[in-house]
Amino acid sequence: MSDIVIIGSGMGGASAAAGLAPTGARIVVLERGERIPDDAPARDPNRIFRNSAFLSNETWLDEKGDGFSPGNYYHVGGNSKLYGAVLIRYRAEDFEEMQHADGVSPAWPFSYETLAPWYDAAERLYQVRGEAGSDPTEPLHSDPFPFAPVPDEPAIATVRTRLQKAGAHPFSLPLGVDIERWLSGGATGWDGYPDTRSGKMDAETCGLATALAHDNVELITGARVTGLEPDPENGRIAAVTYERNGTTHRLTPGIVVLCAGAVQSAALLLKSDVGNRSDQVGRCFMNHNASALIAFDPRFRNDAVYQKTFGINDWYLSDGNGGPPLGNVQLLGRVVPDILKANVPSLPMPLARYVSGHAVDFYAISEDLPDPESRIVLKGGDIQLLWKRSNMTAHDRLVGKTKSTLRAAGFPIVLSRLFDGRVPSHQCGTVRIGDDPATSALDPECRAWDHRNLFVADAACLPTSAAVNPALTVAAMALRTADTIKGELAA
Ligand SMILES: Cc1cc2nc3c(=O)[nH]c(=O)nc-3n(C[C@H](O)[C@H](O)[C@H](O)COP(=O)(O)OP(=O)(O)OC[C@H]3O[C@@H](n4cnc5c(N)ncnc54)[C@H](O)[C@@H]3O)c2cc1C
Repeated sequence: MSDIVIIGSGMGGASAAAGLAPTGARIVVLERGERIPDDAPARDPNRIFRNSAFLSNETWLDEKGDGFSPGNYYHVGGNSKLYGAVLIRYRAEDFEEMQHADGVSPAWPFSYETLAPWYDAAERLYQVRGEAGSDPTEPLHSDPFPFAPVPDEPAIATVRTRLQKAGAHPFSLPLGVDIERWLSGGATGWDGYPDTRSGKMDAETCGLATALAHDNVELITGARVTGLEPDPENGRIAAVTYERNGTTHRLTPGIVVLCAGAVQSAALLLKSDVGNRSDQVGRCFMNHNASALIAFDPRFRNDAVYQKTFGINDWYLSDGNGGPPLGNVQLLGRVVPDILKANVPSLPMPLARYVSGHAVDFYAISEDLPDPESRIVLKGGDIQLLWKRSNMTAHDRLVGKTKSTLRAAGFPIVLSRLFDGRVPSHQCGTVRIGDDPATSALDPECRAWDHRNLFVADAACLPTSAAVNPALTVAAMALRTADTIKGELAA
């Protein structure tokens, strides 16, 4: 018997479990994946980036109905196992309506101040390293960051100085990495590398570990949830079915917290035909418009290992000339020759080594605006991703601004490449919160309007994508949902 079933052990599920564990309720976390084994090749870029060793063999369909392998990870800890561990808050302005070049980002049902206490709690749970005050767009914090920022390596410190001289204002990225522990496992960056419990603060090592320290929390791995069954009498979710080792199991908890990730949570609701009286489930799928930039200077020697320590928000709230916002720029994890080769297979390895040794790599992110026609649907039982990119005017300008600033900082060649739609790393929306049951699937506390014992507390609940990495906001929303459920259990 369980009181609460949590589906998925990623950022949302693990954070919800950590928040609910002290209640003493019997909690079962159902996770379709397994723990990533602690083996040395987990740090092998060739195996990770060229052989996609940690991807599942799942296929989704694109808009033409052609199958593709999505960059979505199914392990204990979900996508956070391979994430870049940038744990940054949405800006206060992201909670308000904001005019963008190609449309409007709508207001959330509540302001930044409402979520701020759970951002504080999420930063504590994920032991965020950062420097309050170094980013002019940083919203108000009641507490300082729990740890000092991860230091720039010497080569990266020179890039920071060069950018400052070119007029930019780099800030230390808030990160969930214990850098000494991470490097003791191998001299690599962490962005895109799987964490074998060696210094990355992710859903498994922080949220889930906190939850499993309580005897009332159980994790069942290899448990793929296949359906949610509503009770026709009272509209509550009566049962959760899952498959494990070829056998179907059925649980009948009092409360269900769905955290399978934005795409999989929407797919499960659609498949189960629940929670969708509004016809909003699966709609407003968002994924950042993101580009990788490589800035090359033959005189610059990049001997950095991890690189990913600063960002630039100079064009986050406006384009710098009073025009609409463009987005965030941050260092990528170091693009080593194997990663370069994985992306440009025709590049001879010696050239890949030369370019990588004299270049520094950035990631430019712009907000994707919610559009009901940008959506997940099921086609013959398969997931079909009908992503309609939006706001590309802002993204093109962001990439242009970043290039001209890097050139002014002495990098004569700057190349960029747009990430394509098969990499849904920052997927969100699809089961969004709102004030109106006609236009949203969840109320502002992440509770399904249609089934009052069902909560969705992963990236699906986010009504806007903002232009910063989503995981800390997912964690904050899940911790807030846990407190809502706690209040209900106490009552
Ligand atoms: C390479 C990469 C780098 C990233 N870098 C960053 C970063 O630096 N900062 C940041 O903020 N974000 C980053 N992200 C995004 C971040 O990882 C996600 O926003 C976050 O993990 C979303 O949390 P979630 O709970 O919605 O989904 P997930 O963390 O993906 O968790 C979903 C979980 O549900 C499980 N599941 C799915 N279906 C079922 C089912 N039917 N039954 C049981 N279990 C199921 C999955 O296996 C998974 O464990 C990155 C993502 C990737 C892929």
